[in-house]
Amino acid sequence: MTLLHSPRFSSWARGHLLCRVDSVSDRVALTFDDGPSRGATPHVLDLLARHEAHATFFTLAPNVDRLPDVVRRAVDDGHELALHGDLHWPLPVSTPGLIRRELERSAAAVARATGATARHYRPPFGFMAPSQARFVARAGYRSVLGDVYPEDTYRPGVDTIVRRVMTRLSGGSILILHDGSPFGEADRSQTVAALAVILESLRRSGLRGVSIAELLAAAPEESRETDAILRGGSS
Ligand SMILES: [Zn+2]
Repeated sequence: MTLLHSPRFSSWARGHLLCRVDSVSDRVALTFDDGPSRGATPHVLDLLARHEAHATFFTLAPNVDRLPDVVRRAVDDGHELALHGDLHWPLPVSTPGLIRRELERSAAAVARATGATARHYRPPFGFMAPSQARFVARAGYRSVLGDVYPEDTYRPGVDTIVRRVMTRLSGGSILILHDGSPFGEADRSQTVAALAVILESLRRSGLRGVSIAELLAAAPEESRETDAILRGGSS
C-alpha cells in the first residue's frame, strides 16, 4: 500500500526510527501529523477525551503559532506534543543546518504555546537517513515513524481508512493519522470520522490508545534504549 508497509523499507527504517514497540501487547500509540488545525484538532481532542485515550501530536511550527489555544488544550487533556518541523521540507535534501533550524523552530513554537518540552520528532514524509536520525538524537530528540499508515491525507473514504488501520494494527503499533496540513487548514473530516470508529474498535479489542511517551513507558527496555540514544551512547 505505502512504502511504510513494504518489508524491505520497514526493516531498514526500524534500524534508526521508532516504528513500533514489540514488547507491549495491550496498547497502541495514536499519532497525528501536520497540525494543529481549527477544523479537525478540536474534534480529535473531543473523541480522544470521550474514549479516555491519549495521543502524540507531531506539530508544525506555523500551525502551533496560529492556534496556540488548540495545543494548550491538547496538553491540558494529557496529550504529548512532539515536533514535525517548520517548513515540512523533505530531509534527504536538507542540510544539517536546515534540520537543526527545523527542530529549533518547531520546539520553540511548542514551548511558547504551552511551556512543554518535546522529546520526539517525526521527519516530514516519514523518511530520513540513519545519519540524520543520529544528528537529531544528538540534538535531544528520538525520531519516530510508525507501522500503520492508512494514507488518510488522500481521503480514500472513511471505511477504507478504518479497514486499512484495523487489518494492520496490533498491540505495540504506532498509528499515523493527520489532523492538519503544511498548507494550513485542509479537509480532515474523513480522518475524524474514521477515528471515531477506530476508537470503538480498539475498545472492543481491549487495546488502549496512548501517546508515544506512554507506549515507551510501558516497555522499560525501550525507555532505556531511548536514554542511551539521547546520551549519544548508541551509534
Ligand atoms: Zn507531515
